[in-house]
Amino acid sequence: TANFVSRSNKRPFTHATISHPRLSKFFLPLGSVTSAAGERESTTDLLIRAGFIRKSSAGIYSLLPLGIFVQRKLAAIIHRNMYMAGASEVSLPSLLSPTAWKTTGRWENTELYKLKDSSDAEFCLAPTHEEEITSLVSREVTSFRQLPLRLYQIGRKYRDEMRPRGGMLRGREFLMMDLYSFDTTTEAALSTYEEIKVAYRSIFDTIGIRYAVSEADSGSIGGDLSHEFHFITPVGEDTLITCDSCDYTANVEVAESYPSGEHIYDPDNVAVKYGLTTDSTLLVIYYPPDRFVNENLIKKELPLYDPSVRNPVSEFQRNGDPMLQRIIRIFDERVSEKSSLPDLPVSINIGNISTLRFPCVEVAPQSHPNELCPHCEEGTLLASRAVEVGHTFYLSTKYSAALKAHFTAEDGTKKPIQMGCYGIGVSRIISAVAEVTRDHYGLSWPVAICPFEVVIVTKPKSDKIDDLAIKLYQDLRKAGCEAVIDDRDDKSFGWKLSDSKFLGFPVSVVVGNNYLNDGRVDVECRRTGQSTICSPEQVADTVA
Ligand code: ATP
Ligand code: MG
Ligand code: MG
Ligand code: MG
Repeated sequence: TANFVSRSNKRPFTHATISHPRLSKFFLPLGSVTSAAGERESTTDLLIRAGFIRKSSAGIYSLLPLGIFVQRKLAAIIHRNMYMAGASEVSLPSLLSPTAWKTTGRWENTELYKLKDSSDAEFCLAPTHEEEITSLVSREVTSFRQLPLRLYQIGRKYRDEMRPRGGMLRGREFLMMDLYSFDTTTEAALSTYEEIKVAYRSIFDTIGIRYAVSEADSGSIGGDLSHEFHFITPVGEDTLITCDSCDYTANVEVAESYPSGEHIYDPDNVAVKYGLTTDSTLLVIYYPPDRFVNENLIKKELPLYDPSVRNPVSEFQRNGDPMLQRIIRIFDERVSEKSSLPDLPVSINIGNISTLRFPCVEVAPQSHPNELCPHCEEGTLLASRAVEVGHTFYLSTKYSAALKAHFTAEDGTKKPIQMGCYGIGVSRIISAVAEVTRDHYGLSWPVAICPFEVVIVTKPKSDKIDDLAIKLYQDLRKAGCEAVIDDRDDKSFGWKLSDSKFLGFPVSVVVGNNYLNDGRVDVECRRTGQSTICSPEQVADTVA
């Protein structure tokens, strides 16, 4: 037989090269965090304590091995669906020259990180890649025969976010999947748009967290048609308006109507004044925009630098009202890092009081408070907080016209390419999933993106137990489950049991004294708490 691929220089795959993943071998440092007693630990702190991530600076995080496993699974789900959607993977640079950005008018975007090289030439760190991909395609595509085209990447983005928060929920450096589509006609572009929405639904269905798809504002990206994918969670910064009877869902930014009352009372939708009133007090005054009158000002004093208060911000949060707690959280990341007054952006000094106005929720001009759904005219509108995890835009020719990405059509005429762009917040999803699935015991990963599906907890250290752990690992592997052995011998049995819950592996298989005494092992489901005692031979069947 023809041997087209020589295998002679490849190392044989021997037993010795198959290793059983063991937690003792991973870089899994136990994080220490300083949240105040009695306070709900933030999900970011949970992820730090569980050894998934580490903070580098405000809005900038490192992923440790457990975090990487989650990210890889997420990426694999995305790659699979992009492949099915006929998209090709590319990798565009992070360091971009300003030419195209100046052409499209986005060089002055305030979120842009700008820098200069040694010869004083300007660059920016990519916050998104419409300019770059359109320039690339404009050089390569000349004819309708080369279209349609779908290009995507999973890469780092940089945005000088005014308020980095929630760990990787709003980072200043983060991972995004971005896809760009190129078509010849509006109809083709719109049908691409619908196809990509189907692919996005498939990605979010696979992740397995309840999500909503909403009508959305196309923001600074521009364009005509836009939808957002959201996880519903109180930590989200968006407000979704949904109908309880039909499937109408819209971001409040574009909603035709919204329910009146407390729901719409958005902590980002306020003006805040803050200033140092004495050497140790931060005065915060805030008021929602519909109450821009003095008697409604709400004043709070925050003893920022009182040395007797260990964590002044948390101290204040415990005593403050819920509205203010959210605002203080906005200051959180910067306050905790500095020993002086946080230097907040966009501040106007009025003596020693500064004014900071957060961007108000842009309620569409035609919108009005109304409980009745504008679509079915039967259902009642509800508002809920949500975090944007994906966004789709039909761009039309906004970028292709500006950057001269033209093609020659079948009839010989030259036209700008019809485009769409689509993003998924990969690192944001890691934090968001951790947030919506966490419980009393700690993290609780959905099977689709868990670092390992099964943890085999062993104790005490013994050859008999270790042999069984390896055997169970192999049985599970044959059954299609990926397991890891928790052989951290310096930890007690009780500690390991609660740690397996804390780290959030979907299933624990406990091989301990019960096994040594009478050959039984324990299989426990993290989410339901259901536990089954069985023989080692039954483990793979019980789990898979
Ligand atoms: P937001 O409204 O939350 O600021 P955006 O609308 O500015 O997000 P897009 O430009 O639509 O974000 O980017 C596509 C996706 O990238 C978003 O849907 C979100 O999931 C993710 N994303 C955007 N900004 C960040 C960030 N600072 N940190 C982490 N993920 C982000
Ligand atoms: Mg943004
Ligand atoms: Mg948005
Ligand atoms: Mg968006």
